[in-house]
Amino acid sequence: MAIDDLHQVLAALSEDLATGQWTPRSVECELASYVAVGLQTAAAAQPEDGEQAAIRLLPDIIRSAIRAAGPGIATPAVTDGRWATAVVHCAGHLEPAYGAEIGECRRLAVHLLNACVDIASTLQKTPCTTCFRHALGWHAVPGDDPVSAMSRSSASALYGLHVQTEHPETPVPHPDYECADCLHFVSYVERSGDDVEVDGACQISGPDVLEQHLYSHLIHQVPVPRPEPAQR
Ligand SMILES: [Zn+2]
Ligand SMILES: [Zn+2]
Repeated sequence: MAIDDLHQVLAALSEDLATGQWTPRSVECELASYVAVGLQTAAAAQPEDGEQAAIRLLPDIIRSAIRAAGPGIATPAVTDGRWATAVVHCAGHLEPAYGAEIGECRRLAVHLLNACVDIASTLQKTPCTTCFRHALGWHAVPGDDPVSAMSRSSASALYGLHVQTEHPETPVPHPDYECADCLHFVSYVERSGDDVEVDGACQISGPDVLEQHLYSHLIHQVPVPRPEPAQR
């Protein structure tokens, strides 16, 4: 399959997904999620040169994702054989020996990642690719070092804000009394009352900030299937 055909197949799959003509089976969503997690984790592990590193590793990431998704991904039981086929062909095109130029590799990798995010996010009750993207970013930095912790906390803060804005019907979780931020915001709201704005966060009331923070705790509930032994 030529690289242009591959872009066409990926575009056609995304369109079928968007128009409801294709409802991926869970094994197909898992494959998508495994590839997305592998790419993000590889990129996050190399702050200097993350994108290039992820592209270089993509053939391996795809091979292990296919192994982890299991043989079911290549049987007639899947809903759309084009998906697994396209993923396999992407791995082939991104092999160094194939000699595709870096710009082409990058375009293909980005296209594949976007397709993976769209497909994997259909695992949620409320399909939303933004929820999946934030959760993907959060899972991609599992380390204990300060940089990872910082990336994780900004991913969960953005997720909390996103849920509050886009999915306001989501029930707000209870404060976690082992979480320093929960304690801080709860006591702030208790001391300052309902309509006091938080310093530095213009026009946002204390209870709103608390709610955003409480929603951020739900990030681990977004389904982001990952291969069993972590790839790092
Ligand atoms: Zn969402
Ligand atoms: Zn908290």
